[in-house]
Amino acid sequence: MAVSSTPARPGATSEPAGSSVPAARRKRGEGQWALGHREPLNPNERTKKDDNPLHVRARIENIYAHGGFASIDPADLRGRFRWWGLYTQRKAGIDGGRTAVLEPHELEDEYFMLRVRIDGGQLSLAQLRVIADISQTYARDTADITDRQNIQLHWIRVEDMPEIWRRLEGVGLQTTEACGDCPRIVLGSPVAGVAENEKLDPTPAIDEIVRRYVGDPAYSNLPRKFKSSISWLADTPYEVNDISFLGVEHPEHGLGFDLWVGGGLSTNPMLAQRLGVWVPLDEVPDVWAGVVGIFRDYGYRRLRHRARLKFLVADWGVAKFREVLEKEYLGRSLLDGPAPELPEKPIDHIGVHRQRDGRNYVGAAPVVGRVSGTQLAELADAVAEHGSDRVSLTPYQKLLVLDVPPERTDSLVAALRRIGLESFPSVWRRDTMACTGLEYCKLAIVETKARGEELVAQLEQRLAGADLGDSGLSIHLNGCPNACARTQTADIGLKGQLVVGPDGRQVEGFQVHLGGGLGMAQGQSAGFGRKLRGLKTTAVELPGYVEGLTRRYLAGRAEGE
Ligand code: SF4
Repeated sequence: MAVSSTPARPGATSEPAGSSVPAARRKRGEGQWALGHREPLNPNERTKKDDNPLHVRARIENIYAHGGFASIDPADLRGRFRWWGLYTQRKAGIDGGRTAVLEPHELEDEYFMLRVRIDGGQLSLAQLRVIADISQTYARDTADITDRQNIQLHWIRVEDMPEIWRRLEGVGLQTTEACGDCPRIVLGSPVAGVAENEKLDPTPAIDEIVRRYVGDPAYSNLPRKFKSSISWLADTPYEVNDISFLGVEHPEHGLGFDLWVGGGLSTNPMLAQRLGVWVPLDEVPDVWAGVVGIFRDYGYRRLRHRARLKFLVADWGVAKFREVLEKEYLGRSLLDGPAPELPEKPIDHIGVHRQRDGRNYVGAAPVVGRVSGTQLAELADAVAEHGSDRVSLTPYQKLLVLDVPPERTDSLVAALRRIGLESFPSVWRRDTMACTGLEYCKLAIVETKARGEELVAQLEQRLAGADLGDSGLSIHLNGCPNACARTQTADIGLKGQLVVGPDGRQVEGFQVHLGGGLGMAQGQSAGFGRKLRGLKTTAVELPGYVEGLTRRYLAGRAEGE
């Protein structure tokens, strides 16, 4: 079997520039390649070393698509398939109480979830129609807009993958590295290039990163997943990515980007930290590659739960991280830069907004990101009928229609409403997100999508007259502690777990985190919600629980809060 190649670091030394790692642990190592710890230290690392996961594409097309599910090598099935956006799907009817006790093969059925990466979030009509068609033909009409601007399909058979790739790639879409220990989708502003208050469109940098590095074997074996965000506006969750570039104006050098590293959620949530550097647009791809290189070479590969970049950043500190980036990876110093201006509240783009060219964009909300191929096909028709030829997806599980002539806007809003996409939704529909959950996810303990839909419907009735002001109230439902729907960043974050029900038996429920928020100016409440040990609810009681919480919040809210 082939072993993935790893290019030398420009100017690399045999030791990092200083080390805060205790001597005993350094000797034993945490699997950092740059320190010579190349021996795989866990089964995931072994799988990656045995064969570069990108190679599995050829086996899918040449072997598995003909031999079917039973012909798939388990190391490919539960490991390398992810590099092509494929996860095995949870078998129907297995309750969350059995997630931790069953073996992987007992939890999965013979179908896959497939993530289509949409870097930057924007889709042409031709691309939207192809996704709709694949959903209807191969995915039982399923399609979820994820909170990372992917479209996730379900019920995919391995036999259909060659044709699905042919159709996707025919319109410039891909599933390459949509999952796995590699550079995942690059988040971008859904209104890049059109927003009135955007001063510099970073789309060329996103496109260049994807062109150069996605699918490059040199960057396909990282210690863990690597999440990126590049946006002028603070309209992505930039604080919880491994790397983020956020727009900033330098007093002498002009428009560019502020670099943040080391954010991430899951069980050890950390906010990204600013390196204090200013990066011009044309240098973003090189700097991005330098940071990924550090992660590849110095990242911890011993323990999966300590492998994300955030742990390295926390151990090194930003000064050392910047020094290693400059000396070993870029071979030059970066310019110091100012902090970006941050908005007073998160930006979700729902409703009707003016573009800088005088046309409008319209942001609409499905419920908890769930749409269907049929709906997407109807959306494509409505978009075309109203003079636009593109849409975009947001990292809040919503979608936008761009380039709408002002005189066609009201008609488009009505057309979207007829297909279940609401441009003026209730705060509950607008601010509620849900992860994949028990319906399809093998790691789930709790059902989330249907519960999220039910929660939104119930709250719209129970709190019909409640005035939550402009800022709304975000609710994020997660089926387990992995926080795919960003548990810790919501006003009400819900982490799926088993809780004790009224009759003393364990039932599906949620641990509640309160008061999280991101994307806000200094002095606002940016940060993680607090997990309060006593705050738990059964899933059945969730609507009443959130209603009570909201009523108490409204009753005790200070003037202007
Ligand atoms: Fe699955 Fe857990 Fe992620 Fe939800 S949070 S999609 S249940 S791994």
